[in-house]
Amino acid sequence: MKKVAILGSTGSIGTQTLEVISDNKNIFEVELLTAFSNHTLLINQALLHKPKAIIFGDRSKEKVILNSLKNEEIEIYFGEESLNNFLNYCNPDIVLTALVGKSGLIPTINTIKKGIDLALANKETLVVAGSIINKLCKEKKVNIYPVDSEHSAIFQCLVGESRDTIDKIILTASGGPFRNKKLNELKNISKKEALNHPNWEMGEKITIDSSTLMNKGLEVIEAKFLFDIDIQKIKVVVHPQSIIHSMVEFNDGSIKAQLGEPDMKLPIQYALFSGKRLKNKFTHYDFIKNNTLTFEEPCLKTFNNLKLAFDAGKLGGNAPCILNASNEIVVDAFLNEKIRYLDMTKIIEDSLNKISYIASPNLDQLIETDIVTRKYTLDKINKL
Ligand code: NAD
Ligand code: MG
Repeated sequence: MKKVAILGSTGSIGTQTLEVISDNKNIFEVELLTAFSNHTLLINQALLHKPKAIIFGDRSKEKVILNSLKNEEIEIYFGEESLNNFLNYCNPDIVLTALVGKSGLIPTINTIKKGIDLALANKETLVVAGSIINKLCKEKKVNIYPVDSEHSAIFQCLVGESRDTIDKIILTASGGPFRNKKLNELKNISKKEALNHPNWEMGEKITIDSSTLMNKGLEVIEAKFLFDIDIQKIKVVVHPQSIIHSMVEFNDGSIKAQLGEPDMKLPIQYALFSGKRLKNKFTHYDFIKNNTLTFEEPCLKTFNNLKLAFDAGKLGGNAPCILNASNEIVVDAFLNEKIRYLDMTKIIEDSLNKISYIASPNLDQLIETDIVTRKYTLDKINKL
């Protein structure tokens, strides 16, 4: 049995991970569940999967959680400190990180320090501290199995290949709900419109990021670190059907692609099973029924976030950390209807220009960059 710790079990990736585990009870068992919100769902998940321990972010729900699980042999912890030190309470074979944003950073680093493999959905962690994480993984011989569908596709394309034969990594993007819009048509986009993704059902933050193409930008930086590749070799192509999940072009002109129905359970399962295949009941893609696959160039003028991410990725150092921190704050402000749609990219660009650049930051400097950028971005929002 493979023991799985799921960080962020009540979210979109977390709940789909539990579905994969329920379908494969002879292979996986749940060791730990954590959540920040939705205590009712966490209680139900705990009753069903009987993990060794659970951690909930919000202490105000302490009474109700303890009471609901009083007849179970489940250890219960609360707060951010407990999440950061979750490995004090459990002993998993693999940790699936499905937290949102930078909150995944310290738990991820602590997992690697203990030499435990990761199934990584929480791309922001790699964006913030990719170099440090890569160095630690090498030292501790830890594998990261990507859950992000594009990176799972690339991982699959690279099986049996040598890294020095890669000519390009081609990340596909659905283009999001505003694919055909011009910049001036985005001025009055509402929260509801931005949350309406054409192909994927996901958490709110990544759905907004998908609409602005920041998600693709974060994925470019994620790919740079996961596959240790120069950012100049990463291309983005818009593929609205989301059937080709990404491709690798090799130096002899061959292109390998990974295809399938848009269903996150496939990359989740592949990552949990450490890059091995497992028979399942998922819908298979039918080439005859759905016989059109199209491709377009992304418009960097309309989707300035993608350009900012490429620039920050090229610059390296603490620039991706600034990009991420500022983005987390503006997305939250947009979701709370404090700023308009296009304010988001303007504020991120300003943060990248104003926050001090550090070429080779250590972890403390990245954490400091994150704090300073969040404060700067919030001030900017309050002055609008
Ligand atoms: P979500 O909002 O649906 O779920 C997030 C989970 O993390 C929840 O359990 C929530 O309680 C917890 N959480 C949120 N903020 C937290 C905090 N500050 N501290 C501790 N726990 C916190 O998000 P999601 O869509 O499942 O995405 C999770 C991660 O996976 C993100 O990094 C996202 O970019 C990535 N990802 C998601 C998808 C998808 O299809 N949803 C696809 C690829 C990658
Ligand atoms: Mg993705």
